[in-house]
Amino acid sequence: MKWCQRCVLPDTRPNLSIGTDGVCSACAAFEQRDAIDWQKRQAEFEALVDSVGCLKRDYDCLVPVSGGKDSTWQVVKCLEFGLRPLTVSWRPPARTEIGKRNLDNLIRLGVDHIDFSIKPSVEAAFMRSAFERAGSSGIPMHFAIFAIPLNIAVKFKIPLIVWGENSAIEYGGGVDDRNLTRLNDEWLSRYGVTQGTRISEWYDSNLTEQELRPYTRPEADVLEDRDIQAVFLGHYFQWDPHTSLTVATAHGFSSSEEGPKTGYYAFADIDDDFISVHHWLKWHKFGFTRLFDNLSLEIRHGRISREAALEIIREEGVKPPKSDISAFCKFTGLSLEAFEVICGKYRNMDIWRRVNGIWLLKDFLISDWNWE
Ligand SMILES: [Zn+2]
Repeated sequence: MKWCQRCVLPDTRPNLSIGTDGVCSACAAFEQRDAIDWQKRQAEFEALVDSVGCLKRDYDCLVPVSGGKDSTWQVVKCLEFGLRPLTVSWRPPARTEIGKRNLDNLIRLGVDHIDFSIKPSVEAAFMRSAFERAGSSGIPMHFAIFAIPLNIAVKFKIPLIVWGENSAIEYGGGVDDRNLTRLNDEWLSRYGVTQGTRISEWYDSNLTEQELRPYTRPEADVLEDRDIQAVFLGHYFQWDPHTSLTVATAHGFSSSEEGPKTGYYAFADIDDDFISVHHWLKWHKFGFTRLFDNLSLEIRHGRISREAALEIIREEGVKPPKSDISAFCKFTGLSLEAFEVICGKYRNMDIWRRVNGIWLLKDFLISDWNWE
């Protein structure tokens, strides 16, 4: 396990690589942002707005939203540039109260909205299957959040889909992926958080093709035929969690008063109780947690030093999100014991070892970490 010398991410993170200079691909990508002509990028966005505006469709664009600060920022930007968006969300089975409030707030900004719910029995069976077969409870969610907006765009003949930040930039990724303006199938197979699987690989006796239809994306040629473009707003405007937070807060978005639910931010990962379970598995699989992701962003933006980040990790430690895990087990019908067994099964033996009955990471970021 190698750790970036600038932030606190390891090379076990999917799509992240560490160069010979000891700097990770996410930090390297961040540095290149200074060379970007943001005024030119904004002009490109304005041209895009004009190109869809003149089509005079019912909606100029579709904005996939959760109610989070980034989706609030996406909607504010689209309205600011005179677009008429239809906003679409996948309704998480464990949506939180604050998630509901923020979503209602987003709609009150002045947009139409579709909240797409999937049959709970199918969602529960799919989550359980993904957790058991791939050690990832987040796979169904990621299929849903990409497929639902695309299908609705096809049905409503909406020419443009406006996503937020390109995660290849946010968390490292190949140069070609970082410079991508459009979200396409290839990007989805790498960054769609489905472990590169296609939905058909999840069909079984409990989950039929028909039941998994809401998670199924339209074929690429359908999108091409209808001339539907999907773009990242982060390509046109400089993206930073604090900038989008400031804009979203000024437009009625609330952070959690109870502090962070998982990781470092009280304003992120707060709209769904199961998201923390998805992040928790990273500890077993990759040897880091959401806290490391968030602190790495803070380091890059110059709001915190690497030393201070290490100190925060030391203080916070690594704790499982117990009540969210219980809720997840109840929803999927798993026992807590079975949950632990599955976590153990996905423990990455290339990076973990057991000494005197205690599990520890061979090359952890903090050498004098207390593993007890
Ligand atoms: Zn880094």
